[in-house]
This record gives sequence, C-alpha cells and structure tokens, in this order.
Amino acid sequence: MASFEASGSDATDVPRTVLVVEDNELNMKLFSAMLSSQGYTVIEATDGNLGLALAQQRHPNLIIMDIQLPGMTGIEITQTLKADAATQTIPIIATTAYALKGDQERIMASGCDGYMAKPIAISEFLALVASFMTRPAASKSAPHPSVA
Ligand code: MN
Repeated sequence: MASFEASGSDATDVPRTVLVVEDNELNMKLFSAMLSSQGYTVIEATDGNLGLALAQQRHPNLIIMDIQLPGMTGIEITQTLKADAATQTIPIIATTAYALKGDQERIMASGCDGYMAKPIAISEFLALVASFMTRPAASKSAPHPSVA
C-alpha cells in the first residue's frame, strides 16, 4: 500500500516524479529525455493498462498522457483516475498527434488538467510541466524560477 516515495518532511518539497504514458517509442524517448534533463524522475508506460496500474501504484506528481494507446485509451485512463479519490488529484497533461475538431473539448471533458498537441514544442512543454509541478496555490502569476 505504502508506495509513496516522497521522503521529505514538509509540504515545501518539490514534486519530482512524472509518469509518461506513450506507446510511440520516439515520443517516449523525447519526453523521457526532456524530463530527465530537468531532474525529474520518469516512469514509463507503453500501453494503457500499464499506465493505469503505474499511476495507481506509484502515485506520480504528474502524468503525461497520450490519448491513442493500445489497451485503454488515454481518455479512459483519465476518467478512471479522476473518478478515484486516491488518484484524482494527480494532474494529467494529455498529448495527441491527431487533434480533430472537438477533440480538445472531449479530452478536457474527460478530466485532463492540460493539453498539448504533437509535435511538442520543448520550451512550451517544460513550462507547462513546471507550472503543474510548482502548483501555485492561489496565484497563477508567480512561476517558480527553478528552471534556468
Ligand atoms: Mn499513441
């Protein structure tokens, strides 16, 4: 049960673990490299069922969620996680290469907290990740100056 890995003692600890659910090998390498370069711990899941299981077991600080996946889709995983009190607070950034008209609305309606179309722009992606990691409590205007 106790798979919580944060060992710090107070709430000022910077969250560090990101689960990437992505079935495309090149995209996975790209996400993993970008996140690792910023010092985040990356957990990789290459299909939907594994993604759901790892989210539940490891309780990451953030999930990067591909939508088109073998097994469960990213939307199904998101709905499942957001319906469970144990996982509903984990922020989820959805990514997709095939954003058709109405897709973004459908994806956001599933409970995702952010959305990014592929191909991913590195600086935008890292800024979005950082904005969820630092989690400004009330103010949206004070980004944490931790990324050089
Ligand atoms: Mn995919």
